[in-house]
Amino acid sequence: MKKAVISGSASGIGSCVKARLEKQGYDVIGIDLKDASVTADLSTTEGRSSAIRNALKELGGEIDILVLAAGLGGHLDDGQLVAKVNYYGAIELLDGFRDALAARKGRCVVISSNSAQMGTDPENPIITSLLDGSEADAMEAIGELPAAATYGASKHAVARAIRRRAAEWGAKGIRLNAIAPGQTETPLFRGAADHPTIGQAVTAIPIPMARVAAADELAGVIEFMLSDAAAYMHGSIIYVDGGTDAQLRPDAF
Ligand code: NAD
Repeated sequence: MKKAVISGSASGIGSCVKARLEKQGYDVIGIDLKDASVTADLSTTEGRSSAIRNALKELGGEIDILVLAAGLGGHLDDGQLVAKVNYYGAIELLDGFRDALAARKGRCVVISSNSAQMGTDPENPIITSLLDGSEADAMEAIGELPAAATYGASKHAVARAIRRRAAEWGAKGIRLNAIAPGQTETPLFRGAADHPTIGQAVTAIPIPMARVAAADELAGVIEFMLSDAAAYMHGSIIYVDGGTDAQLRPDAF
């Protein structure tokens, strides 16, 4: 039986991907804070290591598919917590599962966000310390900033971390890509959209298609990215956002 690991499997986009892979016959190990086969808190180093250890134990050390969807929204007060889950909770798991993926010529999709490029300075010290410093350095760069200042930065760093691994991972036979969703109806999005102070800014983001996505519309694209039909897709950041990024940055890609 083919084996898949999904973080953030208990809700939203991750739970839709889980349902689609189970329908295809995959043995799916979900990782989440609760309602998952592996419960772990990905905001901590110990939680991330125990998630990797327990998932590998359940799957006998081999993984065909990895989807990293666990995340927290930009409406939260704790900017450090959001960066810990969104960046280290994705990238440490990615690296921890690398050998298990290489053993099966695996495929991975990591969830970034179209906010990764919304007025983002690529030299922002939060981004450079996430990518190149220690976790302590990154937390020092964030200080007391709220998640509004770290959500896009963490998603930008995730996308660059994927692209930085493309050469080495491709040579190992692993396909590694990221998806950059726009506004998608999930508990995370609802928390941001209904937030008393940042909600208005979130819902004012233009969407050419004039609606938010359903979580399963993102899951459908992720399923495609993991499929044989996408066999040559590697190192790509795929925007699925109803046209928002094209509207905001028409001459950049
Ligand atoms: P969601 O809230 O429905 O699901 C996120 C999941 O992550 C939840 O099951 C939650 O329990 C889990 N999670 C949160 N903190 C965790 C922790 N410390 N340890 C383990 N699990 C934890 O949200 P979603 O919208 O489906 O989010 C999926 C991904 O998509 C996230 O990475 C999010 O940043 C990204 N994203 C979402 C949107 C959107 O509009 N919904 C847009 C762009 C990107």
